[in-house]
Amino acid sequence: MSEKKIFTIYGNPVKHSRSPLMHNHVFKSLGFNGAYTRTLLEDGTQLKANFFSQNLQGANVTIPHKEAAFKACDEVRGFALDVGVVNTLVNENGKLIGYNTDADGFLFAIEKFKNINSILIIGAGGIAKALGKKFKLEGFDVSVLNRSEGNLKYFKKNGFETFTWEACPVKSYDMIVNTTSAGLSDENYPAPLELLSSILEKTSYSADAIYGKMTPFLKLCQQMNITYKDGADMLLGQGVLANNYFTKGAFDLERVQEVMKESFEF
Ligand code: NDP
Repeated sequence: MSEKKIFTIYGNPVKHSRSPLMHNHVFKSLGFNGAYTRTLLEDGTQLKANFFSQNLQGANVTIPHKEAAFKACDEVRGFALDVGVVNTLVNENGKLIGYNTDADGFLFAIEKFKNINSILIIGAGGIAKALGKKFKLEGFDVSVLNRSEGNLKYFKKNGFETFTWEACPVKSYDMIVNTTSAGLSDENYPAPLELLSSILEKTSYSADAIYGKMTPFLKLCQQMNITYKDGADMLLGQGVLANNYFTKGAFDLERVQEVMKESFEF
């Protein structure tokens, strides 16, 4: 039998992470000789040394070390190069290779949403930036709505159409994505209800980055018969693609998705 391959998730804090459950369930169910642990890392500059001292074959990286992971890599590939943020690491013959599966995971999660051309992102923080960049690269027409001007600067500079609440026209979008933290630990909508309802009336699909909770935004989408995905689908999408790097494509992606989703019931 081949030697057991060890993986981990780096973060601080890291106790709450669902990644070990997700990946270990896939390894066990599909017969991959691997084990996935958690590593609490305080100093991001120690990531590379820690990775090789644990003799890891791969890892995920979460807050606050995603930028440090980018810097630690011997080579960065794909979308991670565009955003300067790495969430997946692979040991390739002693070299540390970095990827970013967060935005690709989102696209994987909405694969079944058809005829998407225009997207409205609500919120202008870190997740909005990564998704906005990815959507643009994929050729979507992207607008951004945020409650305040400050975070919109990045989007304006990069050619996105941007609005604050007060100046937002009611246009039609194929998909609306909530990337704000409104609704995470409160019952707020990500934009004033009247504006939000008017925009949602003209849309077919929506998604929320928040997981583990039916947010007021998603409840409204449900009432309005809009097809939606929650943040768990996004979390699942990034996990499936990371797992595929870890096993070097040993399993069918749809199968991995099916099995990994079972772990959300644990
Ligand atoms: P940031 O803190 O970088 O950005 C938060 C954004 O939300 C800002 O644009 C902020 O507006 C806006 N906002 C905050 N509160 C409100 C409110 N009450 N009403 C309207 N807008 C508000 O956060 P991130 O981009 O890093 O994360 C966003 C969300 O994504 C979080 O809820 C997090 O839980 C979730 N997430 C999900 C993941 C997944 O895999 N599903 C992965 C990572 C994060 P302003 O600019 O005016 O301050």
